[in-house]
Amino acid sequence: MAELAPKTSPRISFVSLGCPKALVDSERIITRLRAEGYELSRGHDGADLVIVNTCGFLDSAKAESLSAIGEALAENGKVVVTGCMGAEPEQIRAVHPSVLAISGPQQYESVLAAVHEAVPPQHDPFLDLVPEHGIKLTPRHYAYLKISEGCNNRCTFCIIPKLRGDLVSRPLAEVMREAERLVAAGVKELLVISQDTSAYGVDIKYAESLWRDRERSARFFDLAEALGELGAWVRLHYVYPYPHVDRVMDLMASGKVLPYLDIPFQHASPTVLKRMKRPASQEKTLARVQAWRAAVPDLTLRSTFIVGFPGETEAEFTELLDFLKEAELDRVGCFKFEPVAGAPANALADPVPDEVKAERYDRFMKTQQAISARRLKRKVGTRQQVIIDSVGPAGAIGRTKGDAPEIDGRVHIASRRPLRVGEITSVKIEAADAYDLRGTAVGF
Ligand code: SF4
Repeated sequence: MAELAPKTSPRISFVSLGCPKALVDSERIITRLRAEGYELSRGHDGADLVIVNTCGFLDSAKAESLSAIGEALAENGKVVVTGCMGAEPEQIRAVHPSVLAISGPQQYESVLAAVHEAVPPQHDPFLDLVPEHGIKLTPRHYAYLKISEGCNNRCTFCIIPKLRGDLVSRPLAEVMREAERLVAAGVKELLVISQDTSAYGVDIKYAESLWRDRERSARFFDLAEALGELGAWVRLHYVYPYPHVDRVMDLMASGKVLPYLDIPFQHASPTVLKRMKRPASQEKTLARVQAWRAAVPDLTLRSTFIVGFPGETEAEFTELLDFLKEAELDRVGCFKFEPVAGAPANALADPVPDEVKAERYDRFMKTQQAISARRLKRKVGTRQQVIIDSVGPAGAIGRTKGDAPEIDGRVHIASRRPLRVGEITSVKIEAADAYDLRGTAVGF
């Protein structure tokens, strides 16, 4: 498109920070801008305006957002700010009073209005062709599919409900139409995201909508089942261990949905979970994990945990380590608790001193690394389906069904025939370390 565009097309430089949910917001804004004839600029320098989509989840993310805004102001001068940190405009104005406009997450109209005011659109319907599936910021072969906005939970360490509001689910047919368009455009892997995927549809009372000649309910299982009909890899993120998640195991066992679940447990001690006000904290998680593994032996479980939550005692931390050893999760991320301005957890029982947090973090990581390495080693000698993410002179890099992009491990692949980005190929796994696998492409 770049060479076809008229020289007068206004150019926008876009910075997208934060989580996959923010990335989806960025994609929507960019799609709208491109539909209106705006071009994307590679740098701030040659752009008419810069949009910074900020993250406000942790204080460190806020600092990164402020510095990105500062850079954009220094290099360009015309800056529109949106995203999670935009929900607290006074914090941005205090550091960068000259930004043109500030809006919160999903306030697409406000962003567009600010852009229109600063750099009016030059619409040319002939040239402003936007692909039917919108503009994606992820590589063409995978895409994030956002099924809802907001969250009905009130975890004490989190301000997302404050920033994004209560749960608002998209009707099933609308999600499916987007998913179909993506698959038709070449997407091979759909990553289902939201704040709480297992709560999908609660707010709209599981309303039915028509897709492929059948009324379907906006329920977690029905959505997973419908997505499984598209023939793409379907990966479920941010699922909580509620009893109704058990049904999805059948879809995994029959190959309709990837045998992968991303469950942010955050802790395992019932008392800490209670202080965190975590969803599903009363569930018998360990028993559930074991039953899932029995139903789907190749299930990959990914999770994240927080160590050093206010008031965490040594005994509570030991409960967490015991859980790790018993649950044998495959992929685990760990964060040291960081107070987030406005989160109720800050006012909870005594903060854990930094050196204790650091020491617990090390013990946690050491325990989990041994588990992850052991579980990954079980793949050595097997054949795995691998989706190719990149191809270079040293070989190709891909992911198994057990690896989500950007957060999990990779497979380094040797191949006698050229591999293409986005293709799914069979790889004989020959070696493993704590995170990654190595193997050779087999079969033609
Ligand atoms: S589930 Fe908890 S941590 Fe996740 S967005 Fe909702 S309130 Fe925040």
